[in-house]
Amino acid sequence: MNRSHGPSFRAPLIPLDQCPVCLGKTFIEGVFHQIACNHCNASGWVDAATGQALPLETLAMQLGRRLRQSDEEVQQLRRLMPGRGPQSQYEQNNRRGAGASNFTGD
Ligand SMILES: [Zn+2]
Repeated sequence: MNRSHGPSFRAPLIPLDQCPVCLGKTFIEGVFHQIACNHCNASGWVDAATGQALPLETLAMQLGRRLRQSDEEVQQLRRLMPGRGPQSQYEQNNRRGAGASNFTGD
């Protein structure tokens, strides 16, 4: 990929790690209810380098970019493996039924 972002694109993806306190769940089980995890700003993620939460502004940007990246990966995988979605599974089952397994022997 060779997109040009101008001379200095200064917002690299920061490596993130699962929050060690809430284990990525974004909340902690309290006695009576769930409490938002304040170790990771209730995101489930911390800076992999420091183990600390990212500032909210940075966090939002990082998560947004990761989500976008993941979405694009999912789209790519769907294109590469057209036989894996629920719709095509239905079609495969349908095909199997019509062809092989419905032999009635008349
Ligand atoms: Zn957490």
